[in-house]
Amino acid sequence: MLKDKYSRTFTKLRVSLTDSCNYRCFFCMPQAPSFFKNGEMLKFEELVRILRIFKGEGIDEVKLTGGEPLLYPRLIELVREISGMFKVTITTNGSMLYRLWESLAEAGVKGFNLSLHTLKDNRYRLLGPGNPLEIVKSMDEIVSAGLSVKVNTTVIRGFNEDELLDFVEFSSAHRVPVRFLEYMPFDGRNKWDRDRFVSMEEMLRVLRTKYDLKPMRRDAHSTAVYYSAEGTGAVIGFVPSISAPFCSDCNRIRLTSDGKLYPCMYSKFFVDLKTPVRQGIDDGQIAELIRSAVFNKFEGVAKLIKEGTIPDHVMPMYKLGG
Ligand code: SAM
Ligand code: SF4
Repeated sequence: MLKDKYSRTFTKLRVSLTDSCNYRCFFCMPQAPSFFKNGEMLKFEELVRILRIFKGEGIDEVKLTGGEPLLYPRLIELVREISGMFKVTITTNGSMLYRLWESLAEAGVKGFNLSLHTLKDNRYRLLGPGNPLEIVKSMDEIVSAGLSVKVNTTVIRGFNEDELLDFVEFSSAHRVPVRFLEYMPFDGRNKWDRDRFVSMEEMLRVLRTKYDLKPMRRDAHSTAVYYSAEGTGAVIGFVPSISAPFCSDCNRIRLTSDGKLYPCMYSKFFVDLKTPVRQGIDDGQIAELIRSAVFNKFEGVAKLIKEGTIPDHVMPMYKLGG
């Protein structure tokens, strides 16, 4: 089992398959993003080998992310290859689900985190070319097929903070939990500022003007806290990564598409796995690199935030994977 020096154990791995994306969400991508070249990214076989080693170290859940993971050319093959080892879920902007979700489900994907930041067409067009109606249609089909779907909405003042109540209705109508993500300083443009940040507390205040929100039990290690909106069937979650991060029971680590293991998204510390793999080290040595990277994981930002220090920009989300 992977452990760090604060006695946290790690069973979940987020894998960024690519930093490319067909969207340009302003809170994630810089204006002129630079993407990894082919040779810089892990090859399919290298990735599968590394994932097998993670399995041997106790990782049992893999979330595929990006960039946009549905752009990864061998995605279905990858899911088929690893779904026997891990519970596999995917975080996606949803724009290609209409043609891929059934094959992905057949290959063994258990659920999707679907990013939907606005229900308004004119705003949606600022992010990317997807058709929100089509995306919601795919979402309904996936839910009907019995797979898990959670909607992720990054809340940003001046963009979508006036849609919070609409998303409760959306959750109620479509029977999917909607999770409001606090805006983090990982936009690649250094444009994040406190003025655009909307805290969980503020969101709760707005939602309570219309809904009776009852807290639900928080599962250990969950990044979100959930509330039910009484009498509506809606379930609303918050991911308070800035105002109240759950560093003390964090159980997740991250692998980027260029083969770097980031034990914490707030820290600049990483361990390169790709170079040693290409130099021919054996599985035991790779496992040792992974164990020592995790052991040295940064304690987290919870304490700093309590003391009033807001974490700085580290790496844009499109590289890190969210
Ligand atoms: N392209 C996929 C998607 O959009 O779902 C997967 C990658 S994206 C980086 C993963 C998640 O990170 C998305 O839900 C996105 O909203 C979130 N995200 C991106 N930039 C963010 C930021 N600055 N603060 C908070 N969440 C952010
Ligand atoms: Fe692409 Fe997702 Fe980033 Fe938007 S949030 S630019 S969809 S990677």
